[in-house]
Amino acid sequence: MNKMLESGDIAELRKWISEAEHIVLTCHVRPDGDAIGSTLGMAHLLKTLGRRASVVVPDHPPRSLAFLPGFKEISIFTRHEDYCRRLMAEADLIICCDFNKLSRQDALGAVTGAMECRKVLVDHHQKPDYFCDLTFSYPDMSSTCELMFRIIAAMGYYPEISLDSATCLCTGLLTDTRNLTVNCKNPDIYEVLMRLLEKGVDKQHIVQEALLAQSLGSLRLQSYALSEKLEVLDDLHGAVITLGHDELKRFGYERGDTEGLVNTPLNVNGIVFSFFLREDDDCIKVSARSQEDFPVSLVCEDLFGGGGHLMAAGAEFHGTLAECRRILIEALPRYRQYIPSRLPKIE
Ligand code: MN
Repeated sequence: MNKMLESGDIAELRKWISEAEHIVLTCHVRPDGDAIGSTLGMAHLLKTLGRRASVVVPDHPPRSLAFLPGFKEISIFTRHEDYCRRLMAEADLIICCDFNKLSRQDALGAVTGAMECRKVLVDHHQKPDYFCDLTFSYPDMSSTCELMFRIIAAMGYYPEISLDSATCLCTGLLTDTRNLTVNCKNPDIYEVLMRLLEKGVDKQHIVQEALLAQSLGSLRLQSYALSEKLEVLDDLHGAVITLGHDELKRFGYERGDTEGLVNTPLNVNGIVFSFFLREDDDCIKVSARSQEDFPVSLVCEDLFGGGGHLMAAGAEFHGTLAECRRILIEALPRYRQYIPSRLPKIE
């Protein structure tokens, strides 16, 4: 099942790992289950192989991932910058996980870019920059964790995958596919899942912690957003939610509290795309999800210089929330050609 991986690249990576004393794994800013799962999952494997491995992330991972084995040992650049710089400088191999360009690491990107050791990219986003010496870029993969598992298996290290490693890898696979509901058309993914479950992974626990668990404040904020702030664009079969600073404050907003909110409108029959605009400290965060191949990545790129996956994308807008909403609402009719005909009426 690892037929799509280039065997020369696999042999090269295996050799680089065997030659490295200290390996740093790193990921994108605002790391999610896939970013943390793939870096920690690989770190556990490397430790089993007798390597020294460190996970360095640009900023704080969400609390919803604190159950992952090794979470406490993650080094956070915004918190311990000097220490993170030292770890990077001591590395003789850096594995970049779940991002396609250095700018996705914010300030840490410049540090990663400046390192002269060998670098490997393991990622499933479209159009990667080639900033690494070896690039594993597979946009068809459900998750970086799925890709990482395949790379590990192709290197012949399946037997060395511990329960800790399997738990981390399984987490990214489950969060990026929302518990196997999106991005999992390829039947092979169930074989990957099976191989991970065979290691003793507690899937139910992962789903509860990483996908379902929510604070009361978050539940109330999301309920408010859906009942009061959801605009349905009937003729375009889309939805837009906006949340301003004052509204977030009213519900005691903490980072991660609106996680998953953008997906909820897609539960309504006839809605094919959903945008969520949230007023952050220094910008408007745009997140977008869709189904039926409606290209939200294109909309995010065209209007706000963002990007992502075809049906899961995002951007940052510098300006007011009202402006951001207006630009979006005015532009959306231009994408009518991508909306499938014969959709049910939204009700
Ligand atoms: Mn991912």
